[in-house]
Amino acid sequence: MKRILVVEDEASIRELVALNLKMTGWEVLEAPSAERALELIQKNPPCDVALLDIMLPEEDGFSILQKLRAAPATKRLPVIMLTAKGSEYDIVRGLDIGADDYVPKPFRMMELLSRIRALLRRSGADNDRQEEYRVGSLY
Ligand code: CA
Repeated sequence: MKRILVVEDEASIRELVALNLKMTGWEVLEAPSAERALELIQKNPPCDVALLDIMLPEEDGFSILQKLRAAPATKRLPVIMLTAKGSEYDIVRGLDIGADDYVPKPFRMMELLSRIRALLRRSGADNDRQEEYRVGSLY
C-alpha cells in the first residue's frame, strides 16, 4: 500500500485531503507541523509521497523540504508543495530547492490525486530508491 504524508496545519484542509487519499486506497500519515512531519518520516520509512504545505507555524514547508533533500534517506522522496494561489515566488523557490511538483491552493481534489498518481508512477520503477530509504537515516 502506498503511504502518503500530509503536512498541513489547518485541520479542516488536512482532514479533507487525508479522507480523499484514504478513499483512493492509500495509507495516510498526518502532520500539523514540521516537527511532527520529520518525526513521522523517521518512524515510518519509506513514505512514497509527501505533500508539504508552505505556511506552517514555527518551521515552514521550505525548511522541511531542505531537510528532506539533505538527508540520504529522503533526498529522493517525491514531494508536492501546496502553495498559495498565484505565488510564483513560492513555486519557483520550491522547485529550486527540489520539490517534484506543486499544487496551488485552493486546489481541486481530483487534480491533486492525479498529480500524486503521476509522481508514484514516475518513482515506482526505481527500486534502488526503495533500498536507499531502508538503509538511510534522517539526521
Ligand atoms: Ca498552512
